[in-house]
Amino acid sequence: MNREDKKEAKLWQALPDGRVRCELCSHYCIIPEGKKGICKERQNIGGILYSLNFGHLIAAHLDPIEKKPLYHFLPGSSSFSLAMPGCNLRCAWCQNWDISQANERNDPSRLKYVPPEDVFKQVLRLKAKSIAYTYTEPTVFFEYTLELSKMAREEGIKNVYVSNGFMSEQMLDLYLPWLDAANIDIKAFDDAVYRKYTGARLQAVLDNCKRIKEAGVWLEVTTLLVPGVNDDHKQIEGLATFILQELGEETPWHISRYFPQAQFNKIGATPVKTVFEAMSIGKCVGLKHIYAGNMSGAADTYCPYCETALILRDRIFMQENRLENGHCPNCGSKIAGVW
Ligand code: SF4
Repeated sequence: MNREDKKEAKLWQALPDGRVRCELCSHYCIIPEGKKGICKERQNIGGILYSLNFGHLIAAHLDPIEKKPLYHFLPGSSSFSLAMPGCNLRCAWCQNWDISQANERNDPSRLKYVPPEDVFKQVLRLKAKSIAYTYTEPTVFFEYTLELSKMAREEGIKNVYVSNGFMSEQMLDLYLPWLDAANIDIKAFDDAVYRKYTGARLQAVLDNCKRIKEAGVWLEVTTLLVPGVNDDHKQIEGLATFILQELGEETPWHISRYFPQAQFNKIGATPVKTVFEAMSIGKCVGLKHIYAGNMSGAADTYCPYCETALILRDRIFMQENRLENGHCPNCGSKIAGVW
C-alpha cells in the first residue's frame, strides 16, 4: 500500500453538490469535492470521504504506561504505543508538532504502511498489556484504532487513547465499547484560549470527558501549563472544580511543564513554582491525586485518607507498588484505579 492509497472513512455523510460532512470530530467539516478537512488526513474524492493516513505508522514504541501519562492504570506495565500522522487541532505550543503536523506535503519517506495485523503480532511478541493510540491525535486515525482494538480485546489486551478529547459524539458512541482507559488533555479552562490557540472549543472537550467517564472507561486528565496562556488562578481553579464535580475527586490530574517549541518559542519554559502552585490550588479544591509532569518531584501516589506512600515513581518509571489488591496497606481504603 502506497501513501497514495486510501481507505474509505467511517462516520461521514454525503451532502448535495458532491460535498461531504465528516462526523469524526467536533469540527464536523463540510468538505467540497477534492478538498481535505482541517486535519488534512481526510479527503473528499468523488463524493466519498477517505482516510489518508490509515496504516501509515509515523511512530511505534514500547513505553511504560506511566509515559502516557496513566498513573492509576496497570502501573508498571508496558504499553505498545503508536501513531499515524495528523491532528484535528493546531495547538501553537504542540510538543509533538513534527509528527502531528506531518502529512504528505512534508516528508512522505517517513511514512511506512503497516497493516493492523502486523502491529498486533508485535504487540503479542512484546507481551504488552495495552495498546496506546498516542503521540499525535488518535481520533484522526480512528479506523485503524478500531480494527486494532477489536483484535486486542479478544486477547485481553487493553486499549488506551491519549487524546485532545475533541472527537465527535458519534465517534464515541462507536468506540467507547472498545476503550479501556484514556488520558484527555484539557488545554485550558477558557473557551477564548481554546479558540485562539488550538482552533477547538472547550465545551466539546468537557462534554466528551463526561461521556468517557460515564461509560466506565478509566480516565485521567492532563494540562500542559503554558505561562500567560492558561496558568492564571481562575482557569486552574475552574478546571479543578470541573474535574471534582463532573469526573470525581479521585480522577488523577497531571499538570505538566511546557517547554518552548520551534514554532512557539517566545515564551520560556513553565517555572517549576507555577506547577506547584497549580497543584496546590487543585488540592484546595478537593482533588485527591495531582501529579507534576515533565519534571521531578511529584510523581508518587499517596493514600488520600492516611497519606501513606502507595506507588513510588522516578518520573515515568515505577519503582515500587505497595498497594494490596488496590487498597492502602495502612488504612485499607480502596484507591481509585485499575490495578
Ligand atoms: S476528523 Fe475532524 S478535522 Fe478531520 S475532516 Fe473530520 S471533522 Fe474535519
